[in-house]
Amino acid sequence: MAENGTIENGQPEKKIPFVPHPIKNLEVKHTKVFINNEWHASVSGLKFPIYNPATGTKICDVEEADKADVDKAVEAAKSANLRSSPWRKMDVSSRGRLLNKLADLIERDRVVLATMETMDTGKPFLHAFFIDLEGCIKTLRYYAGWSDKIHGKTMPVDDDFVCFTKHEPVGVCGAIIPWNFPLLMFMWKMAPALSCGNTVVIKPAELTPLTALYMGALVKEAGFPPGVVNIVPGFGPTTGAAIASHMDIDKVAFTGSTEIGKLVKEAAAKSNLKRVTLELGGKNPCIVYADADLDLAVEEAQQGAFFNQGQCCTAASRIFVEEQIYEEFVRRSVEHARKRVVGDPFDPRTSQGPQIDQEQFDKIMELIDSGRREGAKLEYGGSAIEDRGLFIQPTIFSGVKDHMRIAKEEIFGPVQCIFKFKSQEEVIKRANSSQYGLAAAVFTKSMDKALSAASALESGTVWINCYNALHAQAPFGGYKMSGNGRELGEYALAEYTEVKAVTIKLTQKDH
Ligand code: ADP
Repeated sequence: MAENGTIENGQPEKKIPFVPHPIKNLEVKHTKVFINNEWHASVSGLKFPIYNPATGTKICDVEEADKADVDKAVEAAKSANLRSSPWRKMDVSSRGRLLNKLADLIERDRVVLATMETMDTGKPFLHAFFIDLEGCIKTLRYYAGWSDKIHGKTMPVDDDFVCFTKHEPVGVCGAIIPWNFPLLMFMWKMAPALSCGNTVVIKPAELTPLTALYMGALVKEAGFPPGVVNIVPGFGPTTGAAIASHMDIDKVAFTGSTEIGKLVKEAAAKSNLKRVTLELGGKNPCIVYADADLDLAVEEAQQGAFFNQGQCCTAASRIFVEEQIYEEFVRRSVEHARKRVVGDPFDPRTSQGPQIDQEQFDKIMELIDSGRREGAKLEYGGSAIEDRGLFIQPTIFSGVKDHMRIAKEEIFGPVQCIFKFKSQEEVIKRANSSQYGLAAAVFTKSMDKALSAASALESGTVWINCYNALHAQAPFGGYKMSGNGRELGEYALAEYTEVKAVTIKLTQKDH
């Protein structure tokens, strides 16, 4: 084989697919509050249990942080953020190297982290390994690269002055993380915050804190100074609310429901007017024109609806199909859904695991019932999988009408809703008639249709002939009630920096 990866006759080397194996009986070692690079019992002495949603068995107990622990974490993060601190005095290139070192450690422990994520969330292990962990590593490396490239501008100003800007860290950044992508959302917030030189206090979701806590150990091993990263496992109304209303937290980044996002923003306003970025719900339209590559559209739209057990804010939850291909699209979607394997998330053949908990399960089943009652046609699934706890059949409704609850509410489960449309004007109007505006997709071979839809859709992301194509380099966030601000890409840096204008009076006149 030649050095460039081709074999002698010029043919590309045939890669044997790598299949990682999860760790059997993985022991969870990190269950405490992580402050100042040390593990602490919670101030209250309370703990809470963590369950495996696939089996219903308890994994471990985790120390329950509340306001008192948040206060300690913020104190640590504040000290680590003083201008005289090792973190703030660190060379920007060293900061980038540290982020890369952390990414190396995640790569080293990728199987451990993917196994833990699967135990904690029920998502298929191969998805955790290839999608979540891949996203984490890429995000961290992307922002490692930015650490020494965050610079201001010099601008011409009137009269005899020179003005330049410095982009400085905001300070102590709080992060409140959801349970659907526990480690990935942790990274989307921590990586840009650290790249810009901030310190962080992070609250993982109460259902899924394990990989976040494991990150504490890696942060310490990588060599981050104490107090730069602090992790407080706990509940929303206590720990989360303490972060949102803390007087010494300068910014909070939240991912979760629109309802709680409003509370976070309100708490920020009522406390110290901390900056807030919100990544909230979605009811994302996916438009399939008659000229689309039908196989591709069926595959991607369904993957968009069912990926991660349907527990995605980007879920393809309203699939609008042009009338000429509607019947065929529904038929092929059902055919496709039959091939899905629902079951043990550690089995490599599994495409769908359990829902996260009983509350979500009940909410999804209730919405499926409402779809039936309101007259949508149940084409496939629609039931729980008998005797299997939190597993739900992949479910497809056709004939969905815009007024139905399944057309308006976030289902957050494996339910595909298919609508029929006649004209471009009509479908754009219907697609936009939502309080949300997170993501949208268009399937067509016509560049004209694709680009005009991309302009008209009120949505932070528009995918053309693809779905869920997220990249560390591209911004992500919502229009309307899907949120404020952007994560990822260069755009996220603005959320984690203050801009300081320095203006200098010139005393010497130009000659
Ligand atoms: P979901 O409905 O998907 O469970 P939530 O919006 O309830 O999402 O939760 C997302 C995150 O917000 C979790 O970490 C949760 O603990 C936290 N949270 C819940 N309630 C509050 C609150 N009142 N203030 C701050 N954070 C909260």
